[in-house]
Amino acid sequence: MVVILLGPPGVGKGTQAVRLAEELYAAHVSTGDLLRTARREGTELGKKAQEYMDGGELVPDDVILALVREHLAGIAPETDVLFDGFPRTTVQATGLRTVLTEVGREVDGVVLLEAPDEALVKRLSGRRSCPDCGAVYNVYSNPAGVEDTCDRCGGSLVHRADDAPDTVSRRLEVYREQTAPLVSYYESDPAPLARVRADRSVDEVYGDFRTAVEGVR
Ligand code: AMP
Repeated sequence: MVVILLGPPGVGKGTQAVRLAEELYAAHVSTGDLLRTARREGTELGKKAQEYMDGGELVPDDVILALVREHLAGIAPETDVLFDGFPRTTVQATGLRTVLTEVGREVDGVVLLEAPDEALVKRLSGRRSCPDCGAVYNVYSNPAGVEDTCDRCGGSLVHRADDAPDTVSRRLEVYREQTAPLVSYYESDPAPLARVRADRSVDEVYGDFRTAVEGVR
């Protein structure tokens, strides 16, 4: 099964995807996490991505598609995959189709998480994430057991630089301009698209998200 988790920054894609991937033993593929790892490791890719990420812009499609292709090659064909934060443009969506066809797979379903902008801005201001394992917390709605410490791996939590207010408004604009058109792209696709209201508690959203994904399986 290949499922895409679509939605604006701050809607909770990472939180939901990490939890479901754990429960289903699925691979959680977050291009944002892959890029942050590349930056931390100081690779060529990380250096190339840095400026775009810090400005809230999208990293070029060819860079992202090469990254995803390489990453997918390391995932067993029978493993379920949850894409989080990818694709983000129609070029990436078309590219993904090609990459999946090459390995005998296709997109089986899309889940769109939706919330009003005010909720997204608040979430992003309270978001803390673990640079070591990618777990995501929120000081308002989903705090770590011990302040600033990751429950899963004990790493020190950080507030991402691109969650600063100016970058957040640019990221929301970029979402509306470049990523939101994917909703109609996937609505006209044979794979089902489910909408889940995400301005609710993590558990409530998770229940509906899980049901939507189970429907695809
Ligand atoms: P995220 O953690 O998914 O919010 O991603 C953080 C940043 O990484 C984004 O603001 C982009 O600069 C970059 N990024 C992540 N995924 C993609 C993608 N699929 N296409 C282009 N840029 C991406």
